[in-house]
This record gives sequence, C-alpha cells and structure tokens, in this order.
Amino acid sequence: MAYSGFSLEGRVALVTGAARGIGEALAVGLAEAGADVAVSDMASRIELARDTQARVEALGVRSSTHELDVLDVASISPAIDRIVEEYGQLDILINNAGIRIPRPALEVTEADWDATVDTNLKGLFFCAQAAARPMIEQGWGRIVNIGSQFSAVGSAGRAPYIASKHGVLGLTRALAAEWTPYGVTVNAIGPGPTETPGVLAAYNRTPEELQAEYADKMPLGRRMQPEELVGAAIFLASPASGATTGHLLLVDGGWTAL
Ligand code: NDP
Repeated sequence: MAYSGFSLEGRVALVTGAARGIGEALAVGLAEAGADVAVSDMASRIELARDTQARVEALGVRSSTHELDVLDVASISPAIDRIVEEYGQLDILINNAGIRIPRPALEVTEADWDATVDTNLKGLFFCAQAAARPMIEQGWGRIVNIGSQFSAVGSAGRAPYIASKHGVLGLTRALAAEWTPYGVTVNAIGPGPTETPGVLAAYNRTPEELQAEYADKMPLGRRMQPEELVGAAIFLASPASGATTGHLLLVDGGWTAL
C-alpha cells in the first residue's frame, strides 16, 4: 500500500501571488497532490491568475480566483473569510506573494523599503493571521511562508529584500510557537535562484546572463525551475509534516552550503 502521508485530498489551499512564477507552480503542484486550490493575486494580474485556476481545474479538483493584494491589509481578512465560506474550510496557506527591488544600500529609498517590507513581511503576517483563525478553530492547519535562501544568509545589493526575508524566518518561528499547540504548523521554504518572470523583470538581464551569474554560486550549477519547489511545499502542507514546525526548508541548489 502506498504511503498516504503526502496526500492533500480533501484539503483546501490558498496560494497568494499565484498568477505566475513560483506561486503558479505551487498552486498546480498542490492540486496534483489532491488539494482544492483557491488562487489569488492582485487585480492587475487577475486574468493570469484565472489561467492558473484553469490549470488547477484541469487536474480534476476545485479552484477559484480571488483578488487579494497583500498590501491592502484591511482587505485580507474579508478575502480569506470569503474563501472559507466558499469551500467550508481552509487547511493550507502558501504565503508566496513577494517583490524584490535590487539596489545598492546607499541608493535605497524609503519607498523601496516600504514596498518591499510591507509586501514580503507585513502582508505575509496579516495573511497568516487571517488564515490561522479558521485553522485554529478546526484544529488543523499548515502555513507555508515563502522565504528565500536570503532568509538565512546575506548578499550585496538587496538590503530591504534580505531584511524582509530574514523577518519571514523570525515570524515563522514566532507563529509556530503560538499556533502549533492548536494543530497549526508554520514553516518556511527558502528557494534559491529560480527562473520566474519576476526575477527576469527585476534584474533586466537575459536568462543566459542570469544563468551564468548564478551557476558558480550553486553546487547545482544552474538556477532552478519553479516546479522544483513543489515537493517541499507538498511535504510542509501535508499530514506527513505534522511534527515539523518553525522550520526553514532550504531548496537552494546548495547556495547556503558554500
Ligand atoms: P513573481 O514576481 O514571478 O511572482 C510573484 C507574484 O506575486 C506575481 O504575480 C506578483 O504580481 C504577485 N504579487 C506582487 N505583489 C503582490 C501583492 N501586493 N499582493 C498579491 N500579490 C502580489 O515572483 P517569484 O515567483 O519569483 O517569487 C515568488 C516568491 O518567491 C516571492 O516571495 C519571492 O521573494 C520568493 N523567492 C523567489 C526566488 C526566485 O529566484 N524567483 C528566490 C527566493 C525567493 P506582479 O507581477 O504584479 O508583481
């Protein structure tokens, strides 16, 4: 008999920033493991998010698309409550929405700082808070925060991003301490360089240039594809990870091993 600990059948997941990139891959990956998946992103990305919904539905599970801008804190709880009402439960939150504004520290503006930290850390916290309420009520939940290899190490040219991602690890530990006793585990995934539309847009370089730049910093020798994060997400979203909490699971091609 096959091991059933990784099955997400009967579970309902919400993925933020799921219109493209890592969020899209994780939404589809959770559906492949059997979960119903609510897809969300900002209004400007809603058509792309519907494409993710279509990919999820093609796998034979339920899906729907929701406008959820994590910078609009007042709108987060009502949006998550609507999803709970629609599906009758919420079991898994993939806290994925995030931005990067690479710039030398001496050139960082207050607007750069606020946009980065408010999206990657403040928005992530309030999504976790809103999702934890129904999870605590039902006594089971999985919150998976998307951090970075930069949750664990530093690098030049990305100070606000690195501060926000170290903050994601701190929050993961703090929330795990508070909510694990109620059956809600809180963990983080730390992806290394992954080929996504957001990265290509932020660095204004060709995929080949980025590949060459990262190859010697990763024992893996190449940037990753978003689908290579799916296994980690399924584990942390599944019953199999019930005793894993407050943990940063690095999936970074060995970046932090050097
Ligand atoms: P993408 O920019 O490709 O995708 C992110 C999605 O989130 C986009 O659809 C984006 O919309 C959306 N988003 C941005 N701001 C908000 C917001 N305020 N509310 C809701 N959605 C929003 O990024 P990636 O897939 O590369 O990154 C996903 C996550 O993974 C991020 O948290 C990132 O920090 C993390 N990560 C990525 C790595 C990589 O190398 N790709 C490495 C380590 C971590 P829009 O396109 O309009 O901005």
